[in-house]
Amino acid sequence: MSSSKETQPTIFVIFGGTGDLNARKLTPALYHLYLDGWLPKHFAIIGSGRTPLSDDEFRTKLLDDINQFSRTGKADKDTWKEFAQHIVYQAADVKDATTYKKFGQRIADYEKEWSVQPNVIYYLAVAPEFFPIIASNLAKSKLASDTKCTRIVIEKPFGHDLESSRELNRLLSDIFDERQIYRIDHYLGKETVQNIMAFRFANALFEPLWNRNYIEHVQISVTEQLGVGERSGYYDGAGAMRDMIQNHLLQLLCLVAMEPPVNFTADEVRNRKVDVLRAMRRFTPEDIRESAVRGQYAAGWMKGEQVPGYREEPGANPKSNTETFAAVKFFVDNWRWQDVPFYVRTGKRMHRSASSITIQFRDVPHFVFPPETAESWQQNRLVISIQPEMSIRLQVQAKRPGLDMMLNTVDMVFDYKGTYTSQAPEAYETLLLDTMLGDQTLFMRGDQVEAAWDLLMPILNSWQGRASQSFPNYSADSWGPEVAEALIARDGFHWFTLPLNGNE
Ligand code: NAP
Repeated sequence: MSSSKETQPTIFVIFGGTGDLNARKLTPALYHLYLDGWLPKHFAIIGSGRTPLSDDEFRTKLLDDINQFSRTGKADKDTWKEFAQHIVYQAADVKDATTYKKFGQRIADYEKEWSVQPNVIYYLAVAPEFFPIIASNLAKSKLASDTKCTRIVIEKPFGHDLESSRELNRLLSDIFDERQIYRIDHYLGKETVQNIMAFRFANALFEPLWNRNYIEHVQISVTEQLGVGERSGYYDGAGAMRDMIQNHLLQLLCLVAMEPPVNFTADEVRNRKVDVLRAMRRFTPEDIRESAVRGQYAAGWMKGEQVPGYREEPGANPKSNTETFAAVKFFVDNWRWQDVPFYVRTGKRMHRSASSITIQFRDVPHFVFPPETAESWQQNRLVISIQPEMSIRLQVQAKRPGLDMMLNTVDMVFDYKGTYTSQAPEAYETLLLDTMLGDQTLFMRGDQVEAAWDLLMPILNSWQGRASQSFPNYSADSWGPEVAEALIARDGFHWFTLPLNGNE
């Protein structure tokens, strides 16, 4: 998010260096930061895992990962050679308190070599059960006591429910200052997501309309074609509500609904977001049936291939009650948004992979044109497409060319691809750079995470205590269960599907 600041000498200690997240996201992101000149002269990456590897074996693995996952394709040989000199590997079991001395020694060696005290970023790319263990061991080994120079990055999921997130926050705050803690929600690093704030607060045009007087309802939809695949071990204990809505979708909702911050400092922006979560209408047991629905995918066909149902995925529980789809109607009870519904939905094995926010404006107060002129009349919509297309389109009515007066809906489009020639950075590039710069704007504060859990706990508890009798209730390659259609249809609306060409 920051731009012109210089990065300080930095050591990244990546716990989970041999894992999937490092392979797909962290290493390619660090490599691009290097290519783009964002990394300081003095930087080091210490990868760690239990697997015994030499430095060279680890580097070879990372090169393969970059070649496979980098947004710019295969690494340039010479650049890679330079970059690889900054990478070392430390085999270690995070449960073994004595191994932390080895990290301490490595850090001290760099400090001596560089003659400067570096920033040290501990990145926890490991399973959540290890978060408390690593944090405590860092504290015991006095590796995190410098509150200015050491930072800890925590991956999602941050807790499993309100109680566990509170417990983790308590433990972290006993060891670290909040300024040192970077809770990742990688959606916040996406270009289009950051643009929601630019769009709202850098233009005079939209903010006057951004309220209950002009906006009828909001839809936030994050759908995936992929099923759970090999990840049912993790997913079965989570489900769509914990995996997606508690973090990504609620963060998107906060960006749409927040009040304008006074300035762009991390705490000011995060205060405004937490205000939204606190204003959100609480769910009573009676509301839950009306306002929250769940689904689980059945076997079916996708792109001509037969795919298993959730309960038949490898390692899955054949009687699982875990939801792979969830849709919720939220309200934000404040002056700006009273009674404007925010519909959110997310699901796996859906017809298309797409993330979007649609803001539907109220209809014109009076219809001037005869009905036959407006064949495809549609209320104005602002569609923020986050992925795969990155665009913002304003849908308006216009006169069709011709001698008669005919109206139809046209799009005014800001399309990243058409507007900018440079490739957008990956979310992890933005977030890793911000961690280096000490900018927490795009990271979740402890109270935000807890407020999100607090809001959802009644639904989660209700679903846990009441096994669904209808699972599986939607087929692969569909738009989810019928109950989700009913949820929104009761209010006279329907889910918007993100068009491939911009028109529904
Ligand atoms: P993963 O592929 O299973 O990797 C786990 C890592 O933890 C491996 O490097 C493993 O190294 C290490 N590890 C396990 N036990 C250890 C121990 N006792 N001591 C030291 N290292 C140990 O998992 P992942 O997919 O990378 O996910 C890591 C974290 O990121 C999780 O919290 C996940 O929820 C989160 N996340 C992942 C993604 C993603 O795209 N993968 C996306 C969002 C969030 P060894 O096997 O060498 O011991």
